[in-house]
Amino acid sequence: MRQVTEPSRQVDVIHETDVLVVGSGPGGLAAALGAARAGVAVTLVERFGCFGGNITAVGVEGFAWYRHEKTIDTEGVGREFEARAIAMGAATPEPQSDSHALDAEGFKVVADQLVQEAGIHPMLHRQFVAPVMDAKVVGREAAGGAARR
Ligand SMILES: Cc1cc2nc3c(=O)[nH]c(=O)nc-3n(C[C@H](O)[C@H](O)[C@H](O)COP(=O)(O)OP(=O)(O)OC[C@H]3O[C@@H](n4cnc5c(N)ncnc54)[C@H](O)[C@@H]3O)c2cc1C
Repeated sequence: MRQVTEPSRQVDVIHETDVLVVGSGPGGLAAALGAARAGVAVTLVERFGCFGGNITAVGVEGFAWYRHEKTIDTEGVGREFEARAIAMGAATPEPQSDSHALDAEGFKVVADQLVQEAGIHPMLHRQFVAPVMDAKVVGREAAGGAARR
């Protein structure tokens, strides 16, 4: 296969952080909240215009369909998503289980609020392409020591 070599270029460092979470679905949102609550600077990058991943972008609303009367559920951020959505009027009872279905539009507001409260730096409409590596270090030395000051 024929190949081309892309030219290197200078890129401005527009933001610095301790933890960069790419993607804001339930996984990314939980990771960002967990890290921020542990006290480090967190940035959440999402390529679309809202946080929530499949919950908001696709409309995956059935969140705890597995929960029935005798289900032993784990606590954690998933329960928090559901509880906050209920409290903010962004969930409706899910008829086939002991749970609430998240409202895709409403959860955009819930996610925004969780992100804001945790002090996470939000970056919407941003697409992660590749890490800039220096040996095994992401960012710091590769960016001339500027990744996190
Ligand atoms: C049609 C469909 C129906 C489903 N139904 C259910 C259901 O009823 N109940 C249920 O529990 N689960 C359901 N699932 C599964 C559930 O949606 C996933 O398990 C869950 O969303 C995975 O979470 P995640 O955080 O890993 O990824 P996602 O929710 O996919 O989030 C990933 C996020 O990362 C962002 N992203 C990806 N690449 C980049 C990049 N390079 N730069 C910036 N951002 C990026 C995406 O835009 C997205 O917001 C369904 C899935 C689909 C597709």
